[in-house]
Amino acid sequence: MNSLSSTFETLIRTSRKMETKMRKLFLTAAVTALTPLALAPAAMAAKPPSPSCPSGDDYTLAIHGGAGVILKENMTDKREAEYRKSLNDALTLGGQMLEEGYSSLDAVQYVVMAMENDPKFNAGKGAVFSAAGKNELDAAIMDGRDRNAGAVSSVTTVKNPIVLARAVMDKSRHVMLQGQGAEDFAKAQRIKTVKPGYFYTKRRYDQMRKKVKANKIKKQSYIDTPETKYGTVGAVAKDGCGDLAAATSTGGLTAKEFGRVGDAPIIGAGTYADNRYCAVSATGTGEFFIRAGVARDICSRREYLGETISESANHVIHTTLTEMKGDGGVIAIDEEGNYTFSFNTPGMYRGANKGGKTLVEIFEAK
Ligand code: ASP
Repeated sequence: MNSLSSTFETLIRTSRKMETKMRKLFLTAAVTALTPLALAPAAMAAKPPSPSCPSGDDYTLAIHGGAGVILKENMTDKREAEYRKSLNDALTLGGQMLEEGYSSLDAVQYVVMAMENDPKFNAGKGAVFSAAGKNELDAAIMDGRDRNAGAVSSVTTVKNPIVLARAVMDKSRHVMLQGQGAEDFAKAQRIKTVKPGYFYTKRRYDQMRKKVKANKIKKQSYIDTPETKYGTVGAVAKDGCGDLAAATSTGGLTAKEFGRVGDAPIIGAGTYADNRYCAVSATGTGEFFIRAGVARDICSRREYLGETISESANHVIHTTLTEMKGDGGVIAIDEEGNYTFSFNTPGMYRGANKGGKTLVEIFEAK
């Protein structure tokens, strides 16, 4: 009996050691797999990150993959499983980075990069098309320590717009660059660019054609139809140093026109982080999020009214936004790492990883 239990103990110890080794290997592989893709060509203006905070399980990460009319009855089991896997993979990558002591800023950037590379989401590859048949991408990142921020809009050749947003924050004197200027900056920073065709997916192209047709028949406004609007990605995190960060990336709304810019790259609308109160990333019909200053308002309500993060997020989504007839949702965390999801659509792809405890949800909360 004794020798059996000691054999078990040895086995458990060995498997724990192997697990730690495997996790380290996974993280190194994930970071290096993403790094060349996002930061090449080889000279790499931006160095891959290295841990700067205490390691351990004192971290929180929350992510979203867009809000909209996401109903169980409209989704096959296979499709649902694919989304769950993508969300889980993103949570695992970000969680492991945070556990190893990487900053929240690096974690939200790498999580968003991974989701930009996943064609299921409306960001990077798989982004929606404008009415002119182009993929025009928006992204923003914000550092809760000093409220420094970087944003880009309407870029068409940058493989990972969130990498460019980070470079705007770290390497330029500005907060937001758009269009050709942003592309020129990407080139100067040697950030990976691709041919615009890289972003193409048939599913998104067909959605755009359908929407353009519908708009001709029944003159609709810029506001998207529920079936085509979801898939924006975002992440918020608190790291082992206690710092908050937020990042959001999107292709915007299907069949958008005239250089339309959404809320994702507007600091205070779709993205915001302030170490003292909150980090927020939003998804939904951006026009309303800009008009309501959603992300900043959630933080301000905590600052001025002392609301909890779920009270303030719920008020802004379920009262302010809903009264304006806006639709969408947010992920938000506070300075203690409490996280919340709030949305007024039937579903939101979402998940969290709090010190290794992960959760993935898609449909309306029961
Ligand atoms: N908020 C994004 C935008 O308006 C779209 C979305 O989240 O689905 O550009």
